[in-house]
Amino acid sequence: MKKISIIVPMYNESQMVSIFFEQINHILNQLKNYETEIIAVNDGSHDTTYELLLSMKLKYSNIGVVNLSRNFGHEAAVSAGLHYATGDAIIVMDADLQDPPEIILQMVEKWEQGYDVVNAKRSSRDEDSLLKRWTAMKFYQLINHLSGKVYIPQNVGNYRLISRRILDELNALPEKNRVFRILVPSLGYRTTEIEFVRPKRAAGQTHYNWPSMIRLAIDGITSATTIPLKLATNIGLIVAFIGLSSILLIVYEALFTNKTVTGWASTVSIILFMGGIQLICLGVIGEYIARIFIEVKNRPVYHTESFSKPSESIRKAV
Ligand code: UDP
Ligand code: MG
Repeated sequence: MKKISIIVPMYNESQMVSIFFEQINHILNQLKNYETEIIAVNDGSHDTTYELLLSMKLKYSNIGVVNLSRNFGHEAAVSAGLHYATGDAIIVMDADLQDPPEIILQMVEKWEQGYDVVNAKRSSRDEDSLLKRWTAMKFYQLINHLSGKVYIPQNVGNYRLISRRILDELNALPEKNRVFRILVPSLGYRTTEIEFVRPKRAAGQTHYNWPSMIRLAIDGITSATTIPLKLATNIGLIVAFIGLSSILLIVYEALFTNKTVTGWASTVSIILFMGGIQLICLGVIGEYIARIFIEVKNRPVYHTESFSKPSESIRKAV
């Protein structure tokens, strides 16, 4: 029998645990000809998420619980789940039911048709603020512009199905700074998508705020491409050219005309402008050096305190 693995990272999701497993197993039970497992990753929650997960494990035999030693963040928790998943097809989703479980059935169908990646794409972002929609759109435009041949699909989060061979390739990637939604498209393979309308969080609160979304965007860009570095060189060349032209103009005016060059305001603004550009370029270099630093240290992406497997004797969820 083929096996479907669900990976769900959980951080302070005590309000979601029981609703989530009830709903997901309701759907999984409709997959009659498959074995199923749900790998829940407790990402160092400070509430009762872990205890609740263990009690869920007693109720549903298809749950495995990975307990990380502290909070490592969403992406690291997903990586941990990917490591422990044993299925032939693997579905990554959030715990808050914003990724509707119903479409799992369609995902599996597509996978059986031969697709290696089945993305779940939000058909609208109506419930997001205008600012979030606009920044998300700009981010995907930018990253697609920068990442060359790789196409990063818009309005696709982490919710997707990947086949075993994609999983093996992901697990074999050596990099430590991992953004799942960027890594998967970079591998290629046959990809399709299913559209869905994203509901509101069923309970609890989002863990993402503006700073963490900006961080994710920078991680995404710096892991996908080195073009920002080249951009820094180009900006430097352009600004140097403008500077040189204005020097020539000033020398010309001093030697051949009666004009005296005046104004401290222009000088100060040019210094500030140049200072700003230099700092941005330094920052860009810094981002890449930080990534080199993290990769060179070669530390594990997460530490697992314990892992309790799904009970093997019973095949289906009850
Ligand atoms: N999450 C996690 N570690 C963290 C933050 C979040 O494992 O440090 C999990 C969280 O429990 C949820 C998923 O990642 O299952 C997505 O988080 P959230 O719903 O807060 O993000 P949003 O949907 O608002 O982007
Ligand atoms: Mg969410």
